[in-house]
Amino acid sequence: MALVTKAIKGTQDLLPCDSYKNRFVEQTMLDIAAKFGFKEIRTPVFEHTELFSRGVGDTTDVVQKEMYTFDDKGGRSITLRPEGTAGAMRAFLEHGLFNEPLPQKVSYLTSCYRYEKPQAGRLREFHQFGVECFGTAAPAADAELICLAHQIFNFLGIEGLTLELNSIGCPTCRKLYHKALRDYFEAHRAQLCPTCLDRLERNPMRILDCKNPECKEIAQNAPKVLDYICSDCAAHFDAVKRHLDAMNIPYVVNPTIVRGLDYYTRTVFEFVSTQIGAQGTVCGGGRYDGLAEELGGSATPSLGFALGIERLMLLIQAQNTPLPEEEKTDLFIVTMGDDANCRAAQLACSLRENGMTVQYDVLGRSVKAQMKYANKIKACNTVVIGDSELESGVVTVKDMEGDGSAQLPLADFEDAFERYLIQAELRKIADGEGMEGADLSQLLTKTE
Ligand code: ATP
Ligand code: MG
Repeated sequence: MALVTKAIKGTQDLLPCDSYKNRFVEQTMLDIAAKFGFKEIRTPVFEHTELFSRGVGDTTDVVQKEMYTFDDKGGRSITLRPEGTAGAMRAFLEHGLFNEPLPQKVSYLTSCYRYEKPQAGRLREFHQFGVECFGTAAPAADAELICLAHQIFNFLGIEGLTLELNSIGCPTCRKLYHKALRDYFEAHRAQLCPTCLDRLERNPMRILDCKNPECKEIAQNAPKVLDYICSDCAAHFDAVKRHLDAMNIPYVVNPTIVRGLDYYTRTVFEFVSTQIGAQGTVCGGGRYDGLAEELGGSATPSLGFALGIERLMLLIQAQNTPLPEEEKTDLFIVTMGDDANCRAAQLACSLRENGMTVQYDVLGRSVKAQMKYANKIKACNTVVIGDSELESGVVTVKDMEGDGSAQLPLADFEDAFERYLIQAELRKIADGEGMEGADLSQLLTKTE
């Protein structure tokens, strides 16, 4: 039986005690992206394998080693998405979004699947927040996209991230660079791993992000792409930097970033942290001007980034970044007897319709046990309803955080409780302002 109570290696559960944090972070990212004009897109979790072998590139680690690929019952080769860009671009082409005003800007939150060696910050199922901007070649778009990631991190209060920036040129300058790389790696043939030997012929740039330690070491002294980019690409890169400077966004040029996916051209960037171990890249992105054509569409210069949610949460944990608290239960209704429990159910319904978070006992527990539970779930207030309250029509609301209490009419409980909450809030504010006596009672009577 052990197997069914154990999650698959490299996957993880997000439990109720933590999920509100992810929800807050994810909503924040979607909201900030929306301010830049990005609208959410949702695409399937699986696609034709060919989409990724063509879109991500069949000399990449992702395609060569990491994809979850299988034949479905109809004999089609299917792959669980390892990233979000290829699916978003497929949808853009399939639905003719290129006929809409350009650029088309989309955002997404997706699960991704890669068969990797699980470790801190590296999972087999992980989640990305991503944005894609289809249909612009202008450097202003690159800088604006980077600004979006920058603003997300700023808003969340994340510190110590370095923005690393590079340009990997276009197919024209790539030819020259590939030749230089081939010449260099040819001399170190004997030390390269078998995958990189194959890459040496087909796509030598991929050797630069091989994870094999020996290949990594040789790659350190390889020719740098920035020394080979053409004047158009150099001018584009300069303009991106100028825009970033204008927006006061700090960066360092790192000529060794080439990014793990084949479709990148020109600008590539990463936001890197030193606080979460070896898997320090929290966000990566860049321009992929050739992808639309690679997938059979017409030329559509585009760009995007993806931000790893799990790595971001690790960073938030490491930095103890304050996040808003989980939404609390406004009221727990403690009941004695069936009649009271029915009344509680009724009250809870209407209070929830008024926007409050309300719970009551559904276990048939003793009053003491219900109080203990209310305490455990950190309910802000409790109210006890028993036969005598039903008879007298008056209940006592107790503030679980302070020591306040109030007698409220049961018949008009919904309105009375709402007023009670507003008054409690005002008291807190008045306390903070040092307000008391006549001023406070005047303020409170306004809510009567
Ligand atoms: P790495 O070099 O760390 O393998 P990558 O270049 O493969 O990263 P991308 O494909 O650019 O990563 O994905 C964008 C982001 O998604 C990464 O910056 C990272 O935050 C996150 N990410 C990628 N792979 C994983 C994974 N296996 N587990 C958790 N997060 C991941
Ligand atoms: Mg990777």
